[in-house]
Amino acid sequence: MIPVMRPLLGAEEADAVAAVVRSGWVAQGPRVAEFEQRFAERVGAADAVAVSSCTTGLHLALHVLGVGPGDEVVVPSFSFIATANAVRYCGATPVFADVDPLTGNLTGQTVAAVLTPATRAVLAVHQGGVPADIAGLRTAVGDLPIVEDAACAAGSTLDGAPVGAGVHLAAWSFHPRKLITTGEGGMVTTDDPELGARLRRLREHGMNVSAAQRHAAGGAVVESYLETGFNYRMTDIQAAMGLVQLGRLDAIVARRREIAARYHELLAGLPGLRAVTDPAHGTTNYQSFWVLLADDMPDRNGVLAALSAAGVSARRGIMASHLEPAYAGHPSAPMPVTEHLTARSLILPVHHDLTEAEQRHVVDSLAAAVGRVVEPA
Ligand SMILES: *Cc1c(COP(=O)(O)O)cnc(C)c1O
Repeated sequence: MIPVMRPLLGAEEADAVAAVVRSGWVAQGPRVAEFEQRFAERVGAADAVAVSSCTTGLHLALHVLGVGPGDEVVVPSFSFIATANAVRYCGATPVFADVDPLTGNLTGQTVAAVLTPATRAVLAVHQGGVPADIAGLRTAVGDLPIVEDAACAAGSTLDGAPVGAGVHLAAWSFHPRKLITTGEGGMVTTDDPELGARLRRLREHGMNVSAAQRHAAGGAVVESYLETGFNYRMTDIQAAMGLVQLGRLDAIVARRREIAARYHELLAGLPGLRAVTDPAHGTTNYQSFWVLLADDMPDRNGVLAALSAAGVSARRGIMASHLEPAYAGHPSAPMPVTEHLTARSLILPVHHDLTEAEQRHVVDSLAAAVGRVVEPA
């Protein structure tokens, strides 16, 4: 079976984790601090605060903006459900907006259509690694805060800079389905060091000094709790792995883009199928390589089943949160693009070791599943 995704993990990660275990300090400590600094440098942020997941990072980002009951936050329905859930954690209401058919991301137009006097922020996703047009969103929403859900977007670029560069608040994921992994884990990045300090405090119970700082100071420091915080910490075990993974990021992105380029070549012989590609304003890391079936092609789930029978593990495309039971009865504007993309797209295998022969097998199997023959280039 050709897997849809496989994290790139080697002896270096195992050694780094073992070193943390041997050190005796396994909770949040020096490796987390180092990972934060290196990640901030890599994405061009003033500060980075490691957290337990992107989901908790999104919650903190909205929390520090003061989002609360009575507020609305515009989110794409076309996203992993954690995006919308983070708004609910604050007691606020997620307001779903439709997305652009080419990128799967919010646009100035789709967001403008759902703004109300209660709109407090916009949560923009760089879906599957494809950068959202943040400049276009900014024009549409004026001074409203935009939080970026960059869960999938480590190593993608926007307007010639890394996604995250100079961004007020962005949240990242290190789940194994994303570009680099710490098992579970996340990061919040910001352009504002004071906000970074508050995020750092909030992820650790609201404490004014961290446990690691107290340990380093020799134990005579008494902490105080400045506000109601959370336990959203990352461990040094995770951060040690993250540091090694971060060193691999450029190679991982380059390899995924190479695989995507070959898919684009092979799929050129299958007219009617449309594959995700770079938007005009940036480059994707191809966290997800999705294809959209033409209207006259068979049912998507049938195509997935045929691929599975041919030894290809593909996945349904990005979900539509507003269609899930958790959001049953939740008011939503019409979502025609989201519903079309989610029903008719599928994600093809991309991982480091995928061979050219395997890619040909994926495309030939896809062609067979949709009843076509791949035309020679
Ligand atoms: C994966 C993902 C998340 C959640 O990330 P976790 O680290 O698993 O919490 C949030 N938003 C998007 C767009 C994602 O793809």
